[in-house]
Amino acid sequence: MSAYDFDLFVIGGGSGGVRAARMAAQRGARVALAETLGTEGLGGTCVNVGCIPKKLYSYAAHYHDAFAEAQGYGWTLDAQPRLDWDALKANRAREITRLNGVYDNLLRGSGVTVLTGFARIDGEHAITLATLNADGSPGHQHFTARDILIATGGTPHVPHFAGREFVITSNEVFDLDPFPQRLLIVGGGYIACEFASIFNGLGAQVTQLYRGEQVLRGFDDEVRHFVAGEMKKSGVDLRLNAGVVDIRRTAEGLRVELEDGNVVLADAVLYATGRQPNVKGLGLEAVGVAQGAQGEVLVDAHYRTNVPHIWAVGDVTNRVQLTPVALGEAMVVVDQLFGPAAGKAPRSMSYDFIPTAVFTHPNIGTVGLTEAQARERFGQVTIFRSEFKALRHTLSGSSERTLMKLVVDSASDRVVGLHMVGAEAGEIVQGFAVALKAGATKAVFDATIGIHPTAAEEFVTMRDPIKN
Ligand SMILES: Cc1cc2nc3c(=O)[nH]c(=O)nc-3n(C[C@H](O)[C@H](O)[C@H](O)COP(=O)(O)OP(=O)(O)OC[C@H]3O[C@@H](n4cnc5c(N)ncnc54)[C@H](O)[C@@H]3O)c2cc1C
Repeated sequence: MSAYDFDLFVIGGGSGGVRAARMAAQRGARVALAETLGTEGLGGTCVNVGCIPKKLYSYAAHYHDAFAEAQGYGWTLDAQPRLDWDALKANRAREITRLNGVYDNLLRGSGVTVLTGFARIDGEHAITLATLNADGSPGHQHFTARDILIATGGTPHVPHFAGREFVITSNEVFDLDPFPQRLLIVGGGYIACEFASIFNGLGAQVTQLYRGEQVLRGFDDEVRHFVAGEMKKSGVDLRLNAGVVDIRRTAEGLRVELEDGNVVLADAVLYATGRQPNVKGLGLEAVGVAQGAQGEVLVDAHYRTNVPHIWAVGDVTNRVQLTPVALGEAMVVVDQLFGPAAGKAPRSMSYDFIPTAVFTHPNIGTVGLTEAQARERFGQVTIFRSEFKALRHTLSGSSERTLMKLVVDSASDRVVGLHMVGAEAGEIVQGFAVALKAGATKAVFDATIGIHPTAAEEFVTMRDPIKN
């Protein structure tokens, strides 16, 4: 018998933690998983206040355009479509509760011991769980484990300023009550842009402020400008080089004074100004786990910290903050600790060619390098670009346009970047990501037959470079 209560103790029931716990248990390990929020929080940020509810609301927002566009296709809507915000919230909450239950079943079905409480690391093999006793009084449980995995994710970061107490973050936005007719969003990252598009589509008057020159830093420059233009066209009042001085509550709503002297009145102010690793109270300093400048847990290529039996995956390591990345990292840890699945080599994680989508309206899908990154890495690159009105919008009356762009390393002919702004860009780019990962050249793209009539076929029919 092992000297420890568990072979693996996972802290955090989000994307990375649940995957690691489940896979480790399926390999025969004795596994516990602690989640502060308990069973109803299983699934973490992604399920409860991230990817899933956001995508559901994005679908809801798309109906706004769909109703308007249907008329071009001969449909008559007898009444003005109206959003029942409370119904949307209730339906979303029901689906999230269902998913929490699915995660709970998956874990328990694999033999994982699911614990409710806030876990603190007390030593390389020791965990204290702050929990509630049956009578509601605070209690503590102590556990030992051969290995500990930190998968505590991240939390929204809001800077300090006068009126900070009036703002909400992405954690609260899904349940706003009442519906914010006037929403001010501060931030220029993908979360800020997505909520701008979503609430604009749902019928709010959205103002988005961003400090920098252009939103979506890190994405291809052309994509950034193009999507910003499309968002403005659809009604988002996007203001660049803009910041907040202070916020006050008044009879007319929240009065937000801007650095340029302008004032915006809003029913709600959403700050989407970055996320920070969830490390507070975890006991990392006492046990000597090395952390970076933002508090992130530092790990090696196998996600082991400097303390040999303590590991970390997902947003708490502040690398690439995406659910599929946390899942991939979790699998690496499980293979390291308990061996790979039968007949398979131990997994490793590559951060090249991670595809991603931004669920703005229209969506962005992207994989590989931006034009600027490719120029820096390869020197000589060839750019193919196509911008058009999608067939669907020839009758819909919408002025939405689609952008597609290929970045090719001129020396090898390899396609090293693929970017799209347009309907279902995430769905389209996922497939092309396999091709880029496999090293497809532009010649392979050219030899591929298109699917007609689709927007996606444009990626295999771009013949003439627009620049070298
Ligand atoms: C608004 C929003 C939209 C997003 N959209 C997307 C998207 O479209 N696609 C995508 O891939 N990614 C998206 N993400 C990112 C994605 O949600 C995260 O990358 C992912 O959830 C990270 O998983 P994780 O396991 O590291 O942490 P999390 O999922 O955050 O889970 C951490 C869990 O640990 C628990 N916890 C923390 N401390 C303790 C403790 N001491 N003891 C016990 N439990 C603890 C927390 O309660 C939480 O449940 C989005 C994020 C946000 C905020």
